[in-house]
Amino acid sequence: MGKTIAIANQKGGVGKTTTSVNLSACLAHLGKKVLMIDTDPQGNATSGVGINKGEVHKCIYDVLIDDEPIKDVIQETKVKNLYIVPATIALAGAEIELVSTISREVRLKHAIEDAKNDFDYIVIDCPPSLGLLTINSLTASDSILIPVQCEYYALEGLSQLLSTVRLVQKHLNHQLTIEGVLLTMLDARTNLGLQVIEEVKKYFQDKVFKTVIPRNVRLSEAPSHGEPIIVYDAKSRGAEGYLELAREVIKNG
Ligand code: ADP
Ligand code: MG
Repeated sequence: MGKTIAIANQKGGVGKTTTSVNLSACLAHLGKKVLMIDTDPQGNATSGVGINKGEVHKCIYDVLIDDEPIKDVIQETKVKNLYIVPATIALAGAEIELVSTISREVRLKHAIEDAKNDFDYIVIDCPPSLGLLTINSLTASDSILIPVQCEYYALEGLSQLLSTVRLVQKHLNHQLTIEGVLLTMLDARTNLGLQVIEEVKKYFQDKVFKTVIPRNVRLSEAPSHGEPIIVYDAKSRGAEGYLELAREVIKNG
C-alpha cells in the first residue's frame, strides 16, 4: 500500500509545487511508482509535468464534487513511473461547493482508497490556503511535508499550519504525521539563509530534512518547458537536491 504525502503550507511561493513535481519525479526516477495529485486550481503541478491544461477533460474537481472514480482521471506523464491527477481552473469553485457537500472533509481520502494499492507514493500538491481542499489533502495523507523558504519571516504562519494539523489529527485523521520540514531556495551566498536554517531547526528540531534545496535558476526554468528538473537538467544543483530529498523520504519509510 502506497504512502500518501501532502505538500502543504498556506503561504504562497514557498516551493510547494516545485517540491511536489520534483520529489514525485525523483521518486519515480529511483524506480518508485508515483501518483501526483494536483489540488491547486492554478494547476501549476499539472503543467509542470507537461500536461496541457486546455486538453484536460476530467480533473480532480470531477473526483471531489461529482464522485468520478479517480482511476478514470489518472493520466500518464512523459516521466516513466510518474502519473498525475490534473487540476484545472474548474477546481476554483470546489472550495465553495464542498462546503455544502456530504462528508466534505473526507472526499479525497475516500477517492484515493481505490488507487493506493497501485502506487508506492501518492504526492498531493496543496493550494496556498487552509481551506477545504487542504483539509481534504491532510485527511487523505499519511504525512505532511512542509516547505519553508529560507527568507525573513520563514516561521510566520507555521503555528497556524501546525494547529490545523493538530485539528485534523484529532478529528479527521489520527494517523497523520509530520514527514518533515523542507528548507527551500537557500542562497548560500548570504548569512540570512544560514540564520533561517538555525531558527527553523531550533523550532522543529529533528523534524527538519537534512536536505536543503538551493536556489537554482534551472528549477525555475523547468516548469516553462513542462519538465521536472531531473528531465530538464539532471546535472543541476536543483536536481541533485531533489534526488537527495527523494532518498531521504524513502529512508524515512
Ligand atoms: P508554491 O507552490 O508554494 O506557491 P512554487 O513551487 O510555485 O511555490 O515556487 C514559487 C516560485 O519560486 C516559482 O516561480 C518557482 O519556479 C520558484 N522556485 C521554487 N523553488 C525554487 C528554487 N529552489 N530555486 C529557484 N526558484 C525556485
Ligand atoms: Mg503551488
